[in-house]
Amino acid sequence: MARELTPLRLGGETAKSRSPPRLREGLEVGMRLADGARHAQMGRMVTIPEKPWPTGIAEEVEPLVRRVLAPNPSPYTFTGTQTYVVGEANGPDCAVIDPGPDEAAHIDAILAAVGSRKILAIMCTHTHRDHSPAAAPLAELTGAPIVGCAPLMLQVAGPRSDEAFDPTYAPDRVLVDGEGMRGTGWTLTAVATPGHTSNHLCFALEESGALFTGDHVMGWSTSVVIPPDGDMGDYMTSLEKLMAREDVRYHSAHGAAIEKPKQLVRGMIGHRRQREAQILRLLAESARPVSGFIPEMYKGLDPRLIPAAEMSVTAHLLDLERRGMAVRNDEVWRAV
Ligand SMILES: [Zn+2]
Repeated sequence: MARELTPLRLGGETAKSRSPPRLREGLEVGMRLADGARHAQMGRMVTIPEKPWPTGIAEEVEPLVRRVLAPNPSPYTFTGTQTYVVGEANGPDCAVIDPGPDEAAHIDAILAAVGSRKILAIMCTHTHRDHSPAAAPLAELTGAPIVGCAPLMLQVAGPRSDEAFDPTYAPDRVLVDGEGMRGTGWTLTAVATPGHTSNHLCFALEESGALFTGDHVMGWSTSVVIPPDGDMGDYMTSLEKLMAREDVRYHSAHGAAIEKPKQLVRGMIGHRRQREAQILRLLAESARPVSGFIPEMYKGLDPRLIPAAEMSVTAHLLDLERRGMAVRNDEVWRAV
């Protein structure tokens, strides 16, 4: 059942994981199983740890930021979800970004990292189950408000949500692009980055130039975009939005800090354009259903990952449809 990820060599470091795929997130990691060479190129831009990172402790990643890793590693969450505590270590207050899964040990570790500081805001980048479920219990324990991304409006937007989403998420305040929170020595500003999910926000730490990128840009893999809530066109626009910014460093929810952010984002944009070009080439050859793209695009793919690959292809096709480059008749897609 378990299968090794293709080891990526990164300046002498080698990454391996032996856990079986089980969650939905991280399709592109599944792609890495089958397609190591392509991803090795992107992998060179990120740091993959040699050993599992420790959970339950606060690590300083820059003077205003401590990272607490949740104990939820998987091929889809990499080493696990990273919660960030933002604020001066000995200051009076802080913010908690992406509190993670509702697991007592992780919540205890966050509280230990916070120490005697008052939490001014519990901020979620989006509402996937590995990011937001600890917000409610943390709010209850500390009295802190939940501030950040919007909940998914099921009744308005239709059935956009699926089992990957946290239905318990209930923010006290929703931030829109450019709005933020301020504490003693720290300012966090929301950067709307829909695509991975429709409600995704990044948070910019104005004092240091760092950007908390959630799952929009991760330090270990490309993001997965699953329709109907995930939107490839929005995702590409949100990548371009980051290219126009001057963030000095990214802290993502999964994987190491990204010190050359634009280089990585450029690689991710290139990867998607390559996928799109492949789809257009196959459409030009012949009309086909979504399943007809998979053998050519994902050679040797682990059969368990076929549904995920089909969702990714669907996200591209829906984007091409909107741009007038593809149409479907029943479930068969053809070029325009
Ligand atoms: Zn996510």
